[in-house]
Amino acid sequence: MLLEAIRMGGSPLLMAARLVQNRLSPPTLILLYHRVTNLESDPQLLAVSPRNFFDQMRYLKENFPLVRLEQAPVDKPAVAITFDDGYADNALEALPILEELQVPATFFVATDLIGTDREFWWDEVERLLLLEREYPTFLELTAGGEGGRWETATVAQRARCYRELLPLLRRDLPEQREEHLARLRLWAGTGAVGRETHRALSVEQLRRLAASPEVTLGAHTLSHSSLSVLQVSRQREEIAGSRARLEQWSGKPIEVFSYPFGTRDDYTAETLSLCREMGFARTCSAFPGQWRSGTDPQQLPRQVVRDWDLHTFKKRLSRFWLS
Ligand SMILES: [Zn+2]
Repeated sequence: MLLEAIRMGGSPLLMAARLVQNRLSPPTLILLYHRVTNLESDPQLLAVSPRNFFDQMRYLKENFPLVRLEQAPVDKPAVAITFDDGYADNALEALPILEELQVPATFFVATDLIGTDREFWWDEVERLLLLEREYPTFLELTAGGEGGRWETATVAQRARCYRELLPLLRRDLPEQREEHLARLRLWAGTGAVGRETHRALSVEQLRRLAASPEVTLGAHTLSHSSLSVLQVSRQREEIAGSRARLEQWSGKPIEVFSYPFGTRDDYTAETLSLCREMGFARTCSAFPGQWRSGTDPQQLPRQVVRDWDLHTFKKRLSRFWLS
């Protein structure tokens, strides 16, 4: 396992230390998924094909204890499955596989778009900039406090604009981002209705998800903004608001939460206090690491899974235990 991981480019010293640590305190790997579906284009690499997801889940089921996030870590290496955001395919394509293989999973849902025909904002930016259509030759937009002018005549220029716009919009307040999206729509000459392939869950799909014995629902804010950009009162609104809506729709208490984007820059010490105050049992980040006794239950590390075939998945997994 160590040699394999080192071959994949890790620091030998850190990994050797992890290996010793893993012997003393068996880790749980928390895997992070977003979508299970086949997409024609997926610039954020969020989708895992149903075929690869099935193979990944079957392999895990046959080889590891699969634990729920709300359980304590067990006394041997284990795996927990989580999903972020609340895409419709979570209910349509992931859930049947999880139920067939009896794999428990936690779904963190950002609630503003549930039951609407809109797309999550990063997908909408893709739709407004990267799909094939006639475009104006340049775009002028002020976002995240910074103004920008981008050439948009060619595919490569629009791809660059897309790459540069996302981090700017991530620093926007939710209402600023809405305004910027509205201006982008006008510029692209198209409306707000999203692609069928990029819908969030409907309320009915969310209820179906919540009713499954394999599923735990978790909150993931209202607008999927980076919490560190928001005032504390606004952070509270985002976290408590998404929890309340999920509790209302599912009729179940919501006891876990994950930070949108989930890097250490996407939340603050105030966010940690808020989540503590609200009594969440576990809160997930999205930086790599392992969950073991002693890990801060408010910043559980997770490992992002991509659309890997089984061979690649096994290799990545061997690295995840050590990095
Ligand atoms: Zn998210």
